[in-house]
Amino acid sequence: MMSIRSLAGACLSAFAALSAFAVPASAQNYPTRTITMIVPFAAGGPTDVISRIVTAHMAQTLGQSIVIENVVGAGGTTATTRAARAANDGYTLVTGHMGTHAASVPLYPKLAYHPEKDFEPVALLAGTPILILARKDFPPKDLKEFVAYVKTNAEKVNAAHAGIGSVSHASCELLNSILDVKPVGVPFNGTGPAMNALVAGQVDYMCDQIVNAVPQINAGTIKAYAVATPERNPSLPNVPTTAEAGLPAFQAQAWNAIFAPKGTSPAIIATLNAAAIKALDEDNVRKRLLELGSVIPAPANRTPEALATLVKNEIAKWTPVLKPAT
Ligand code: ASP
Repeated sequence: MMSIRSLAGACLSAFAALSAFAVPASAQNYPTRTITMIVPFAAGGPTDVISRIVTAHMAQTLGQSIVIENVVGAGGTTATTRAARAANDGYTLVTGHMGTHAASVPLYPKLAYHPEKDFEPVALLAGTPILILARKDFPPKDLKEFVAYVKTNAEKVNAAHAGIGSVSHASCELLNSILDVKPVGVPFNGTGPAMNALVAGQVDYMCDQIVNAVPQINAGTIKAYAVATPERNPSLPNVPTTAEAGLPAFQAQAWNAIFAPKGTSPAIIATLNAAAIKALDEDNVRKRLLELGSVIPAPANRTPEALATLVKNEIAKWTPVLKPAT
């Protein structure tokens, strides 16, 4: 006679077999056509650059092209809303970040999506340290002078960002609250265009993800006062940390990650996650991400579950920082 335990085991295996059959044909053959990756900011910014580097390799693994669609506006929340409402068939994805999937929650009381409830996390692509940047002829020479200058000239200085709730906006809100200043904010559709304005000397300063700043800093077209992480970044060995430069309270690192609309099948999520991990392990992809200052996620942080935890923790972290600013 079958014991209760083996009966339960048999039932479980039968269930497992049935669930395997339950994977819809569309998920089994996935992908059979072009995938759209929505990038919530303009071309040339960190989110766009990271998405292009990683998806180019993922497309090879998946055997289908991945088309980047830059959908701008409202600090990335317009595009993220569109992604949340897209069909959950694996053919529309979004590259979100610390702004779209965390900082936007306290800043937009009527946000049309919830980062945790309306998305399936797919994979973390990169950690991106935050830098304090300025136009190259901005008078302060170092971070101490910057702090003094911004405080004395509070009414005159302006800070570029990629819209309310973007990484550049949220991280400079943190900096500005530490310094107790309220510069005029100058919004752009992404920090690609904001960087162009900084290089052209049209705006004074900006806090942003390291990615598209590295080439400009190395070319001397902008200034970098500090990186807001505990360690210097290997791509910018001469840029001090905020602690070294006298402002240890300002610590900020952002990230970019792929999300799919809620209800996308677990088989599709697993396929996409595996392709993203394969890309992160490929030499050329790693080299390009590292030379732009990104931090490649450690294996334990590459699962959809780890990304879900990151999103939860980031919402909890940024909500008290940004609530008073609204
Ligand atoms: N770095 C951006 C932000 O401030 C956006 C972008 O990637 O263009 O959120």
